[in-house]
Amino acid sequence: MHDIVDLRSDTLTLPTPEMREAMARAEVGDDVWEEDPTVKRLEAMAAERMGKEAGLLVTSGTQGNLVSVLAQTAPGQEVVLDLDSHVYNYEVAGAARIGGVQMRPIATARGFLAPDQVREAVRPANIHLPVTALVCVENTHNRHGGSVCTPEQIAAVAEVAHAAGARVHLDGARLFNAAVALGREPREFARPVDSVTFCLSKGLAAPVGSVVCGSAELVERARRLRKMLGGGMRQAGVLAAAGIVALQRMVDRLREDHVHARALADGLAGVPGLRVDPAAVATNIVIFGVTHAAGAAAAASRTRALVEGCAAQKVKVHAIGATSIRCVTHKDVDGADIARAVQAIREIAAGWGP
Ligand SMILES: *Cc1c(COP(=O)(O)O)cnc(C)c1O
Repeated sequence: MHDIVDLRSDTLTLPTPEMREAMARAEVGDDVWEEDPTVKRLEAMAAERMGKEAGLLVTSGTQGNLVSVLAQTAPGQEVVLDLDSHVYNYEVAGAARIGGVQMRPIATARGFLAPDQVREAVRPANIHLPVTALVCVENTHNRHGGSVCTPEQIAAVAEVAHAAGARVHLDGARLFNAAVALGREPREFARPVDSVTFCLSKGLAAPVGSVVCGSAELVERARRLRKMLGGGMRQAGVLAAAGIVALQRMVDRLREDHVHARALADGLAGVPGLRVDPAAVATNIVIFGVTHAAGAAAAASRTRALVEGCAAQKVKVHAIGATSIRCVTHKDVDGADIARAVQAIREIAAGWGP
């Protein structure tokens, strides 16, 4: 039980005492000179978990996705990706602005491109058309409520992309959640793709950092791009030390977060004025809608009132749209906190009347 139940994001997780100790003790050097032993250890561990030759510690998931796109495209080329993807929506158009690439967003059912959609989107050789250089996939899918795709689904998309001469990047910010949810190894998801990024700073609870993994050659290009973007950090072993603890200690417990997310969704199912589908909750994200018989404007005002009403009871939730709310479970939220959140939301909804 915590004083504040903060369900806005798993990025709010605080480092564990073990992480802080490891950070204090970390052996460090200048990582731009490639002389930080703790960074090297984290990168090797990450590469091993992803089944890739090499890894690169980056400042954030956004930077990891950006260096991955820049390393595998040239200006004027095209990137095929899901319309609701993080890369397309929440990364400040960095790939377009810095990489000069054109984004080709495709609407999908649950956030995952189907092989046929990729086949149709890839550009044929024609003097008028841009070259399709890269296909991006996301797992778990943020805007689709933490939905999960299988390694086989990724492989099917990668096969089409590779056959067309395009490369594949996996935005696996929460890839470990997908792996735990399906009981599969992270490297199974990463095997079909050329590059993968995962976050240490979300459910894995490290304070800072993501890792990009791929071939040694890709990671060398990414290292140069990271420097260009201002992400060459010096004694970064202080951060990497927490990342090592994250990989060693924080992965298996993600299943608790998934249980909590399902309990939250179950607790909200059937509440009048809310639209929630517990069966769709696969990992640590619950997205629910707020409805009102009088229409969208009334529903939007209910949504704002719900966020404020929860905050007044020290339950923090995040509106991701005019009438939709996202809750993310993580290690700093326990079963009692979930019960409190359910009760707060139910009480507020009960005041809405018929
Ligand atoms: C959070 C997130 C990112 C970006 O990570 P930051 O560390 O916040 O930059 C990228 N992709 C997805 C799917 C995410 O959820």
